Amino acid sequence: MARIALVTGGMGGIGTAICQRLAKAGYTVVTTYSRPGREQQWLADQQEQGYAFHAYQCDVADFDACQAMAEQVRRDVGEVDILVNNAGITKDTTFRKMSKLDWDLVLRTDLDSVFNVTKPFVELMMDRNFGRIINISSINGQKGQFGQTNYSAAKAGMHGFTKSLAQEVAKKGVTVNTISPGYIATEMVMAVKEEVRHAIIAGIPVGRLGSPEEVAELVVFLASENAGFITGANIAINGGQHMC
Ligand code: NDP
Repeated sequence: MARIALVTGGMGGIGTAICQRLAKAGYTVVTTYSRPGREQQWLADQQEQGYAFHAYQCDVADFDACQAMAEQVRRDVGEVDILVNNAGITKDTTFRKMSKLDWDLVLRTDLDSVFNVTKPFVELMMDRNFGRIINISSINGQKGQFGQTNYSAAKAGMHGFTKSLAQEVAKKGVTVNTISPGYIATEMVMAVKEEVRHAIIAGIPVGRLGSPEEVAELVVFLASENAGFITGANIAINGGQHMC
């Protein structure tokens, strides 16, 4: 039977590529979204391209909603083997201008979510002696970024979470890793002014943006049986923009 992968925020730029690549690798793919309204169109578009995904509405910042979603997925689809914590938001502004709400929204969505969604799945992964938890962080969680104290703090927090949980579950066949993408050519990045984009690219040694498919490729490798000796790692995928 096909392994089951759940991708939070799978209808976004990087999430869609991850869902598609996992499906191509033979996984049954479940995704979540928070804002209702465009899921039918997304599912129809995916179906046209030959993909059949399961989709559940769930605000990843809401612990109880995540518990309920996990129960529903278990009943409808089965036990999740691969969890990709991909959902995320930004609320950029300098720290002086940042409101408590800007801080809370980003910390809840980008960091609390990792606790909320991992919690209902990890025990069952351990019981079955196999699991892969892949957290999508960011280059800005590694190096910081002007105007992103909230986002950088949340994404950096993922690394501590990853390294700690990896130690707790290692003997049970569950790996926990973080991927830290740099600038990826999603709609958001492509929408910035051309001159700004050129300036960004000038700071990337390989001389281009990354693609969502390149991030997805890494996810699929970390999800595989072959990646069982990689755990607690943070893998940068940033064209050499930040090396550590
Ligand atoms: P998108 O904005 O395209 O996608 C983000 C997804 O997260 C959306 O599908 C959105 O669904 C979902 N989401 C947001 N808030 C919630 C919530 N409260 N509950 C559930 N789902 C939610 O972003 P990207 O594809 O660009 O980014 C994906 C991940 O990669 C993020 O974690 C981001 O921080 C990270 N990243 C992206 C980079 C880039 O260059 N694009 C670089 C480095 C890291 P909905 O619209 O339904 O809310």
